Amino acid sequence: MIKINPTFLLCVFLLFNNQLYGQKQNKYERKLFFPDIENYKTLLTDFHQHTVFSDGLVWPTIRVDEAVRDGLDAISLTEHLEYQPFSKDIPNPDRNRAYIVANDFTERLNKSIDKKLIIINGQEITRSMPPGHINAIFLDDANKLLHPNDSLKGIQEANKQNAFVFWNHPAWPAQRSDGIARLDEFHKYLIDKNLLHGIEVVNELYFSEEALDIALKNNLTIMGTSDIHGLIDWLFKVPNDDEALNTNSPGHRPITMVFAKNKSKESIKEALFSGRTVVFYNELLIGKEENLKPLIQKCLLINNINDLELGYSEDGKSTIKKIEIKNISDAPFILKNLNPFTFETNSDIISINPNSTHTLAVKTKGEDLKNLEFEVLNGIIAPKEYVKIILSVD
Ligand SMILES: [Zn+2]
Ligand SMILES: [Zn+2]
Repeated sequence: MIKINPTFLLCVFLLFNNQLYGQKQNKYERKLFFPDIENYKTLLTDFHQHTVFSDGLVWPTIRVDEAVRDGLDAISLTEHLEYQPFSKDIPNPDRNRAYIVANDFTERLNKSIDKKLIIINGQEITRSMPPGHINAIFLDDANKLLHPNDSLKGIQEANKQNAFVFWNHPAWPAQRSDGIARLDEFHKYLIDKNLLHGIEVVNELYFSEEALDIALKNNLTIMGTSDIHGLIDWLFKVPNDDEALNTNSPGHRPITMVFAKNKSKESIKEALFSGRTVVFYNELLIGKEENLKPLIQKCLLINNINDLELGYSEDGKSTIKKIEIKNISDAPFILKNLNPFTFETNSDIISINPNSTHTLAVKTKGEDLKNLEFEVLNGIIAPKEYVKIILSVD
């Protein structure tokens, strides 16, 4: 009798299973996944976080562990430059210290993990409005930014170091009592002089449509960050791998997807300066059309096209086509039908869960079905404007 090793069988099954279900197996996995797009790698980042070196509540290594758990490619710990409430217990005159601790830990950790993490030296220039709080990342030396009596000097120094500079939480009610992001003369000056390059449209638990409008009108890079002070798991209700899940949209931190030529600090920086980002926040994807459209086109794949077998079709000439739309990403999609066809299985609004396959029965009335066009209602490209995509059925 031939003996088959059960482990071998399991491996074969897993291999097949993996191919069937794409990058992720058909179960919940905490690490976030989005596919690469044409010519660019999709890198997952969070460039606004805190540790005990300013007013955060964890040691920098915890931020690294969280990022690895979330499957991120790059992070920055951006301590408040001018605000150190724990300086009695943790005196740290060196503003680069959180970066150094995180980077040393990551260099050791990267030897034992598949997806390497990149740590980028950053700082949050913490001023009253205007200009409010400003992040500067890709710094050589954060100490040189400290100019307590001059808001402009720190930003100028960051630019001298060729940092990528973005405006944090421009709609923060502590600094904008009506919750509306708007530009002051100071910001206009910064944009005019090319000293400010991006703006958070998502910060922690909040989205600002007005900030998105500012980004688009002033060609600023669209950013979304966690601005985490406590624990990612607690604030964003992230479930763990081994927890049985019945939720369609598991909690996750806001991330900025950066479309970079390759996975390196230089490429990430180039992509940020070129505005190639999309923010993933709750169930929303927010980005400039030229970035969001190619991403969604890679997330949704047409899997299988079959004529519907209808037992009750008396003449045997059904013109209904069954189409499988497979979502290989961690974002859900809400699609609005823009086709002349109606569906047998859905209304005009179709919800597709993350990492799932949705079968659509299209009533073609015998017409050629080449493309399916949808408006993506959770894909925001401007205030009250949603991206349109075309899925090729050919
Ligand atoms: Zn802040
Ligand atoms: Zn912050």
